[in-house]
Amino acid sequence: MSDEQELEKLAKQIVVCTKCELHRSRKKAVPGEGPTHAEIMFIGEGPGFHENEQGRPFVGAAGKFLDQLLEQAGVTRADVWITNVVKCRPPGNRDPLPNEVETCTSNYLQHQIEIVNPSIIVTLGRFSMGLFFKAAKITQIHGQMRKVGDRFVIAMYHPAAALHQMSLKPAIMADFAKLPELLEQARAELGKSKSKEPKKKEEDEPKQMNLF
Ligand code: URA
Repeated sequence: MSDEQELEKLAKQIVVCTKCELHRSRKKAVPGEGPTHAEIMFIGEGPGFHENEQGRPFVGAAGKFLDQLLEQAGVTRADVWITNVVKCRPPGNRDPLPNEVETCTSNYLQHQIEIVNPSIIVTLGRFSMGLFFKAAKITQIHGQMRKVGDRFVIAMYHPAAALHQMSLKPAIMADFAKLPELLEQARAELGKSKSKEPKKKEEDEPKQMNLF
């Protein structure tokens, strides 16, 4: 099976998933989207109202702001993979529970990361950040990039946080303004150029099962 087919297979499993309670209140699950071997993956928290309606990530107000931040950083949305920690909307936009995060990431996100194999992951918000930096505080590490295994992870504030708390807006805008520089730094350290060649199956490195 090709990597594209593997991602489609996961997406098909996600839309009918009943492994946690979040499936009870969802309208549409949101597997995520992007080019199969995107260089950059953005990971948000979970679908909100509009994502739950449409089955696509970041299509509501936070998504519009994310689009603006990406444009400012010279990143084309169509070139990146965008997904979430949990694939179904937590009722009333509550925080996802630890068992929901564990179930959804071990069954889906972890495999999506393995297949897409991005060089750079941008976490949006504390839940996504917590998958990679367990004890970290987002107020302390936002805008910073760290190496995790063979890729780089950049922790960003969630765009919705900046919409709810206007005082965070300058910080998130400044962090995204640094993104081009961080991406260049990551590419230089990984010895990769901007256009990442699609990986051939037979050249695959051994799968890293425990990413978090
Ligand atoms: N917030 C998220 O974390 N993800 C989305 O897809 C939309 C809003």
